[in-house]
Amino acid sequence: MPTLLVRNVTLLVTMDDQRREISGGGFFIRDGFIEQVGLSQNLPETADDVLDLKGYIVLPGLINTHHHFYQTLTRAVPAAQNANLFNWLKTLYPIWARMTPDDIYISTQTALAELALSGCTTASDHLYLFPNGSRLDDEIAGAREVGLRLHASRGSMSLGESQGGLPPDSVVDSEDSILSDSVRLIERYHDGRPGSMLQIVLAPCSPFSVTGELMRQSAKVARQYGVHLHTHLAETQDEEAFCLDRFGYRPVAYMQSVDWVGQDVWFAHSVHVKEEEIKLYAREGCGVAHCPSSNMRLASGIAPVWDYMRAGVKLGLGVDGSASNDSSHMLAEVRQAMLLARLRSGLAGASLSGSQDAPPLMTARQALELATRGGAAVLGRPDLGSLEVGKCADFFAINLNRLDYAGALHDPVAALTFCAPQQVDISVVGGKVIVRDGHLLTLDVPRHVEKHNQAAMRLVR
Ligand SMILES: [Zn+2]
Repeated sequence: MPTLLVRNVTLLVTMDDQRREISGGGFFIRDGFIEQVGLSQNLPETADDVLDLKGYIVLPGLINTHHHFYQTLTRAVPAAQNANLFNWLKTLYPIWARMTPDDIYISTQTALAELALSGCTTASDHLYLFPNGSRLDDEIAGAREVGLRLHASRGSMSLGESQGGLPPDSVVDSEDSILSDSVRLIERYHDGRPGSMLQIVLAPCSPFSVTGELMRQSAKVARQYGVHLHTHLAETQDEEAFCLDRFGYRPVAYMQSVDWVGQDVWFAHSVHVKEEEIKLYAREGCGVAHCPSSNMRLASGIAPVWDYMRAGVKLGLGVDGSASNDSSHMLAEVRQAMLLARLRSGLAGASLSGSQDAPPLMTARQALELATRGGAAVLGRPDLGSLEVGKCADFFAINLNRLDYAGALHDPVAALTFCAPQQVDISVVGGKVIVRDGHLLTLDVPRHVEKHNQAAMRLVR
């Protein structure tokens, strides 16, 4: 069983229950799991591999709870740059309809490379169109090579334009084929054990692209196999109007009507929710993937993050996109979450007046907590999210001695979030080094970028 010793870390941010930050700390890893954490002098003296991290800050690997890897092929597409969600989608659907299995494979690796270099060690992805013979298997194959943990959501669209849905009929599938493929994927790939590298999630795309019957049937299959459920919800006011018009419900009540509430469900966005809907999320255990960049990019609104936190809703971060961000940089998203939450607090007025009921300003540590412990809770991964005994050995390290942090070392944790988002120097997943000296070891990045750009040029014409 291979061992790895991490020692002399200038600041080790554990995110454990006491939120310990240990100067001169480290940990000892055996077979992918953490066996000891503490001051370096209390750890074993050697191991198969040793990382001496004097001068570095170390944090638990970041967890991305919402993404569409394939959209890295359509970032900054001129026709979709200045559109809100529905117009943005209508512009991009025909382009996405040209994708091939190879495009899915290539774009998966692109997104995961960007994520890995920005501190992410576990990513959830939502793939919901399967043109020209594409399958979720193409994404899974790409991800395996890069080496991050993947929660692959088998998305779906079944409600085409002719049936009153938003997507063109050419990109929707039959509900029978969606459900049988969902079962196939779960049986073939899903691993629910601690330390799992791959989980399958069932994820009909959104209220305006699938029927209620598909939502209900997907929930049934997911619960039969014990896999999680995911969808976009309450992202925009257009969606709310669609739900009221078509179903006679607001989005959250619609979810209740199709049996989509519970510990095993998490929603992307949930920007437009009322107080009682937030309470329902907390009571039922529904999680939220907060995607601040995407919400700003598409002018969707500002999610009530502080209200979620106060109510005890499981809350994680997602870079979303990549065509609505247009980046897969997790540390940048942490920063964005902190800043946007502050803006909402400021708009609410009270925070600056010092009133007791004031929504406070989100701190750097709170923002980082969303991306670690928060994401682990949202994905249902008690084995991730903090650096403590028995947890997966997933972490990243950044050298503090850099121009971008000069003058900010009064508080290195805050430097990570307040200063410009950096790429990591080291990243480790399950005890395996994926990034060393700032280089991704599992992919020839320059060659890959060339391939990716060729694929993107072919699609957008
Ligand atoms: Zn999304």
